[in-house]
Amino acid sequence: MPKAHFIALTLIVSLSSALLLAQTTADKDLLERIRKEEATNSQIMKTEHILTDLYGPRLTGSPNHKRAAEWAVKQMTEWGLQNAHLEAWDFGHPGWLNEKLTAHIISPVKDVLTCKVLAWTPSTHGIVRAKAYQMILPERPTQEQLTAFFETQKGKVGGRIVMAGKHLIVPINLNPPAKRMTDEQANQRYGPNAPPFVFSPPSPTATPDPNTPKPLTNRQINEQLDRFLKENGSLIRVNDAGLEFRQILAVNNRTFDTNRVLPTIVMSNEDYGRITRILADGTDVNLEFDIVNRIYPEGKTSYNTIAEIPGTDLADEVIMLGAHLDSWHAATGATDDAIGSAVMMEAVRILKALGVKPRRTIRVALWGGEEEGLLGSYAYVKEHFGSFENPKPGYEKFGGYFNIDTGTGRIRGADVFGPPEAATIMREILAPFKDDGVAGARVLGIRALGGNDCSCFSDAGLPGIGLVQDSIDYESTWHTNLDTYERILEDDVKKDAVEIAWSVYQLATRGDLLPRFPKDAMPKRLSTETTTAPVQPTTKPAAKPRRTAGQRPNGALRVLGSKQANAVQMKLSPVLRKSSVRQVFPARIAMRTT
Ligand SMILES: [Zn+2]
Repeated sequence: MPKAHFIALTLIVSLSSALLLAQTTADKDLLERIRKEEATNSQIMKTEHILTDLYGPRLTGSPNHKRAAEWAVKQMTEWGLQNAHLEAWDFGHPGWLNEKLTAHIISPVKDVLTCKVLAWTPSTHGIVRAKAYQMILPERPTQEQLTAFFETQKGKVGGRIVMAGKHLIVPINLNPPAKRMTDEQANQRYGPNAPPFVFSPPSPTATPDPNTPKPLTNRQINEQLDRFLKENGSLIRVNDAGLEFRQILAVNNRTFDTNRVLPTIVMSNEDYGRITRILADGTDVNLEFDIVNRIYPEGKTSYNTIAEIPGTDLADEVIMLGAHLDSWHAATGATDDAIGSAVMMEAVRILKALGVKPRRTIRVALWGGEEEGLLGSYAYVKEHFGSFENPKPGYEKFGGYFNIDTGTGRIRGADVFGPPEAATIMREILAPFKDDGVAGARVLGIRALGGNDCSCFSDAGLPGIGLVQDSIDYESTWHTNLDTYERILEDDVKKDAVEIAWSVYQLATRGDLLPRFPKDAMPKRLSTETTTAPVQPTTKPAAKPRRTAGQRPNGALRVLGSKQANAVQMKLSPVLRKSSVRQVFPARIAMRTT
């Protein structure tokens, strides 16, 4: 080699090693500063307190949700974020809030009953006292059988408080699931040798004989039962919560129309069982309820909460992070998903406090309408980015969306929608957190709506990054009356905020955008693009006892409308195959496959 060349090469090598060294030192320094900021100035538990104790529950369309969103805008502006604002989208249903509920058995014994109200059901308009009547519905009836059954019930339900369905026996769980993944499990899933998640479509099922009458779906039965009870003068409908330890999972009247249903209660399995047994003795049971629910017509417009740290030389390219701010109403929505919102707010607060200057714009989103069907994030992606098939100008400039929505646990890995190189990059970015239990990342190649907001990005063909957490108490709090501030593990969520702040900054600063699937390798969309909302997500991570219609809280446990989407989850989760609850998004499923 000529001497001049040798010198030049040596110079290049030493220059680039110096650059690399400088970068590594800068990176190390930044990570240290991020950790220190969180250790000394954390706001995460304060944010969680405000979102849950002051504004919870944050049902979409309710004034609570809007106030929480407005507070987040104000708070993030105070932290120095820019362009913080509410972005409206059309919810289409009025807001609803339960303001008062008293529930008692008044004879043959006197006691308080543990209950919750089903959302978007009406008030009692004063105290209602009446005899309980238990209606045992036929199992999986056809339309003809259900109609015939209702004929036998006419004259029995008028003026009664109707217990809809038999008491559900909840087996004692002798093998409760582990609260954390072992390192080995996390490694298998997200370590360097983690296999990508591959979806193969289900083999077609045999077409049922068109001459055999089809059993009705639980939704159909529920709707007909609601109509029957209303038309026949019943006073209140009571559903069995069907869960252990007085957990009550109460979601909504699926029509969102209070005129179409009775005041409806979800009662703890223990109280429902007690009344069932007394009735079975042949003894009359008298119950008393007082329910005040309020409707907010202005809730038809709901909001996503958006704020930014503007980028510098690549400011038109965007890295997003988000969680949903809305919750169900049975508790204050602490693990689902005030804590996700608090973690994402904290991540951007840290970056802002450190005064970092990302090259790309970092944008945080706190979604509304997740619980009613990923409505806020779906509207946002459609509006701002479009999809692989129908891209908007922002589509090519989008560099990744981090989502967190499985409670209080530590992050153990990331599901990345994209080619293997994208997962490798994410694994490298997450590498400094090995000691905190983060195993890495794997490829997820599914475009299906369901589970959580991340799926709206992946569905559009954009790089969704679903963060997978230890389950901790998520399954016992999910959508229930137990989802409160007390369930938050401070140390875990502080670590989560640090890891996300770091990762978001890395994506916002690295040379290239995260690689995407090449055009000819883009997975097929499993859901069809609609102008309306996607289906309601069904994301319960725990296997629960099987119920039949009439035993469930109205619409409490839903199966995704899309056949393929169900197939995805069936494929993903052997555990959930046994469950009555379906879910699609593997970030949640992964926790349950142990
Ligand atoms: Zn959630």
